[in-house]
Amino acid sequence: MARYTGAKCKLCRREGQKLFLKGSRCLSDKCAVTRRNQPPGPKHLRTRRGYSEYGRHLREKQKVKRIYGILETQFRRYYEEAARVKGVTGQTLLIILESRLDSVIYAAGFSASRAEARQKIRQNKITVNGKSVNIPSYQVKPNDVLKFVTVETAPRPEDEMPTWLLWDKNEKGIKMNSLPTRDDIHHEINEQLIVEYYSR
Ligand code: SF4
Repeated sequence: MARYTGAKCKLCRREGQKLFLKGSRCLSDKCAVTRRNQPPGPKHLRTRRGYSEYGRHLREKQKVKRIYGILETQFRRYYEEAARVKGVTGQTLLIILESRLDSVIYAAGFSASRAEARQKIRQNKITVNGKSVNIPSYQVKPNDVLKFVTVETAPRPEDEMPTWLLWDKNEKGIKMNSLPTRDDIHHEINEQLIVEYYSR
């Protein structure tokens, strides 16, 4: 599967905010956005000009694609799927993204970033309901139990676990209680701009 392999910090600098793509480094003083929050590129082009309306829609879409590590074709498919479902399209889109296996592994604390979660999934280190799953985009459903084949303890204390996930002591794995809600997604995102981008 094709994926972006360039410098991750450049993506954050382009969007002008932390996208949390590099695990613990993102919380440290070494974070490139903390050190110098300027767009990447030649010095004379490094100004962050005001965007046109189209530009704001485009940037919001690009930002969310980058947060979740998804390329355009797949992202558009997610949007179309969200648009088919009854409800608020932008919120549904984010819930679909947050329910991907790589996102759930990251939210549970099994990995420091979504990229690391994808790597572990591809290395066949995760099972879902007892079956090995090596597809990062796998959609996790309520009551699914995820296990790390080499880990038998909770990845983080119970009170730090998102409310839609829980550590199942009997199964020694993470159980999805319910789908995440919009309030469970803490990235700074204006999903309505993405809906407007695709509705042009
Ligand atoms: Fe983004 Fe993390 Fe790099 Fe900071 S350290 S710029 S949050 S990827």
